[in-house]
Amino acid sequence: MKGKEFILDTQQLEDAVRDFVHDFCVEKHEIRTQPVIQEAAPLQLEKIKNIPFPEKGRPVADVIKEMENEIFRYSGNTNHPRFFGFVPGPASCVSWLGDVMTSAYNIHAGGTKMAPAVNCAEQQVIRWLADQAGFGEKAGGIFVSGGSMANITALTAARDRKLTEDTLNLGVAYVSDQTHSCVAKGLRVIGITSQRIRVIPTDDQFRMKMPELESAVQKDIADGFIPFTVIGTAGTTNTGSIDPLEEIAALCRKYDMWFHVDGALGASVLLSPKYKSLLKGVELADSLSWDAHKWLFQTYGCAMVLAKDVNTLYQSFHVNPEYLKDISENQEALNMFDIGIELTRPARGLKLWLTLQVLGTELMGSAVEQGFKQAKWAEEIIASKKDWEIASPAQLSIVNFRYAPKDLTDAQKDELNERVSARINESGYAALFTTILHNKTVLRFCAIHPETTQEDIRTTLQLLDKYAHEIHAEMHQ
Ligand SMILES: *Cc1c(COP(=O)(O)O)cnc(C)c1O
Repeated sequence: MKGKEFILDTQQLEDAVRDFVHDFCVEKHEIRTQPVIQEAAPLQLEKIKNIPFPEKGRPVADVIKEMENEIFRYSGNTNHPRFFGFVPGPASCVSWLGDVMTSAYNIHAGGTKMAPAVNCAEQQVIRWLADQAGFGEKAGGIFVSGGSMANITALTAARDRKLTEDTLNLGVAYVSDQTHSCVAKGLRVIGITSQRIRVIPTDDQFRMKMPELESAVQKDIADGFIPFTVIGTAGTTNTGSIDPLEEIAALCRKYDMWFHVDGALGASVLLSPKYKSLLKGVELADSLSWDAHKWLFQTYGCAMVLAKDVNTLYQSFHVNPEYLKDISENQEALNMFDIGIELTRPARGLKLWLTLQVLGTELMGSAVEQGFKQAKWAEEIIASKKDWEIASPAQLSIVNFRYAPKDLTDAQKDELNERVSARINESGYAALFTTILHNKTVLRFCAIHPETTQEDIRTTLQLLDKYAHEIHAEMHQ
């Protein structure tokens, strides 16, 4: 086999990259005119299924065009400034560039021997983030693919620290009724089944109720179980609420439990001088999950798990097989494969290193503050519209509301709001999904794109109002 055919020659590569970047940037430039969600009709999927893998390859330029036109196009565009569904993923172009560079060099970032400088740069980012959380000298952590993996990594350390092989089947974990579903999934993965996960109710601001938490812990102790961790959330998925972190920390100390904070969304508030005090108490946690592909504007597959004492990660994950002996020798720095689940891993943290360097920490902080403003704007506009009610006021970047004309029953209001969401998503103008709060279906608005304007929000809410009236009228026919 001729190498030239296997790996594109550099001239072809350069042309392909230049053409792709050109097309991509043109598209990026016109993003506001493009649909937020472009549904793939069944026919489109048939088309993709019918592209055979050819025996002899095709020109790269043709295949790139095909991927652009037939595959990438048909997605929900979470980068769009009017994507207000779940937590949007407004990746900075700088992160995108860092991702391209990192995969171009394709560094094996599992161990420090293969990638000493890369690991060092990643660890500097971890160090800086741990400082923002007030985690102290012994802190450390690792970049992982997302909040789900960050939670599993931290909860593994919690399990190993507080339970033994003999007591594993007695360990109990505490979450709230607002905790992200991936926490229960992660607990299941590490051997804590749903019978040993207690779901604590929340107050009217959707924060974990402390008296209920403490009685649940006491009851479990009386029943012979071993309470081993409480998972508090900084920025719940539904409403952006922050659990009472200081109080949970005190309770964890009292009963010798590990305190994990799921800050997948909310930890980024630590970068805002104006709002950072909302997270008071996070410095008391044993571990923290933090998604960079949400409110730190990174492309997907980028999150951090931070531990107050990095040795707790080491104790859970270090291994010492003969085939890794040669690359384990560097004692100066921890090998990533010794403090996390993965062995081979990409240097996910470098794009964040690049972003912090290019944009600066101040701009990152004000970009986070922009999300607070956007949720407030939406709340103010909704409050001024007739027959709309706020279901949960603006917290962080999230506000929930619903159209609730008095002549409809609760079930009809639920149906109406579901249909409003479906209609705006179909329109392609904006994306907004529903959730359920206190048994009511509501529209959930989350805005963290720094380029979302007041005008984007105003026109989106106007459209929602128009659809709500139309659907209301249809329901009366
Ligand atoms: C998004 C989110 C998660 C899940 O993170 P992924 O990166 O999607 O795996 C977990 N917890 C909270 C609070 C989240 O907002």
